[in-house]
Amino acid sequence: MPTVDGSAKVGTEQGGLAESVVTSHPENTQMTDSTRGAAVGAPVCLTGLIKRYEDSVAVDDVSLDIPAGEFVTFLGPSGSGKTTTLNMIAGFTEADEGQIELDGNTIDKVPAHKRNIGVVFQHYALFPHMTVEDNVAFPLKRRRVPKPERTSRIAEVLDLVRMSDYAKRLPRQLSGGQQQRVALARALVFNPRLLLMDEPLGALDKKLREWLQLEFKRIHQELGITFVYVTHDQEEALVLSDRIAVFNHGKIEQVGTATDLYERPETLFVAEFIGESNCFKGRYRKDGEHGILESEQFELRGPAGSDAETPDAVLVVRPERVSIRREGVNPSNGANVLRGTVKQVIYLGSARKTEVVLSDGRELVVRESASVGEGPEAGQPVEVFWEPEDSVLLRGSAARGPDLAQLANEVK
Ligand code: ADP
Ligand code: MG
Repeated sequence: MPTVDGSAKVGTEQGGLAESVVTSHPENTQMTDSTRGAAVGAPVCLTGLIKRYEDSVAVDDVSLDIPAGEFVTFLGPSGSGKTTTLNMIAGFTEADEGQIELDGNTIDKVPAHKRNIGVVFQHYALFPHMTVEDNVAFPLKRRRVPKPERTSRIAEVLDLVRMSDYAKRLPRQLSGGQQQRVALARALVFNPRLLLMDEPLGALDKKLREWLQLEFKRIHQELGITFVYVTHDQEEALVLSDRIAVFNHGKIEQVGTATDLYERPETLFVAEFIGESNCFKGRYRKDGEHGILESEQFELRGPAGSDAETPDAVLVVRPERVSIRREGVNPSNGANVLRGTVKQVIYLGSARKTEVVLSDGRELVVRESASVGEGPEAGQPVEVFWEPEDSVLLRGSAARGPDLAQLANEVK
């Protein structure tokens, strides 16, 4: 086996990489039935996956149905179990409990190299002494694909990742982004019906990341295969995914589209992790068609939940749902209204963020379009308001949130 370029991590912890990416048996090849452009994604079904290590549970009862051709992202802070789950799908890590189905077949007992799944990691893991062309040819040679077909497949996949002009170069003659595109070509050249990517843009700078995100999206659309993508970067998840599974402490907290997660977070963790939010803790009770969050300082209205009173509750409102009272911009009768003083105003080009210190010392953020005209300045007293329906009321265990200080440290 040729040496694998990349860190020791790639060589050991993810030691199945070279095998899985480049090895399979001839009977597993799908050269004939899956051609570029056809919708050939495989559905994936995870049921009750558990992975324990000596003193911790890395993955704690993960179940997820991924339809054929979906782009699903595992998003969560470092250590939340994303890689372990991905490695169980790839076959590099054995689950202690649970089941994985690929295209309707249980694959728990199928070794990684027979799963025919494409894998791309953060570290490019290209063979350093081989040209781009030879790197990409490797999985095909292993599958004993005849030379003429190999040549056309390589040309096709290098064209797909826009690397045709670099076929004769060695990995060290390529930039990080180019190397990652070659790694992607190598993972796709044998026409897998499922592609797994673990933080593939983690080592690249922001501009390149943003460009490659769009490339991944295009390639996903062109191929129609299923993509499972891992990142700790919420913006990346929002840009790329059909659906996002939010991981926390080995569990999936919520699965949904970007809009679901942003507009209807089901837990405080999701509300805090996806985008910015203003959170108010208090007690919950129902009052007619509204839910009420009350604390010593205030009473806020939100959408009604259950009839039962709950001691632990949180009302979440996104910064762009909050308005600052001014001439022509007034709250309705039922709106939540709070008083405070502007702490600072941050200009973000098309938007403006106003940080307000409320009368009880709590801070609240308002995000407005810059087109609404001049806003109040630092030091000015203001009234902020929002409609009850524009907030989310979380109760009980859903309102028990992350340790934010810890989150801030973990998520860069
Ligand atoms: P993520 O990819 O979300 O950052 P991982 O799936 O890599 O998280 O890890 C989840 C948890 O499992 C972490 O607490 C990690 O330390 C632990 N873990 C992962 N691999 C091993 C291992 N080989 N041995 C012991 N603990 C591990
Ligand atoms: Mg990881």
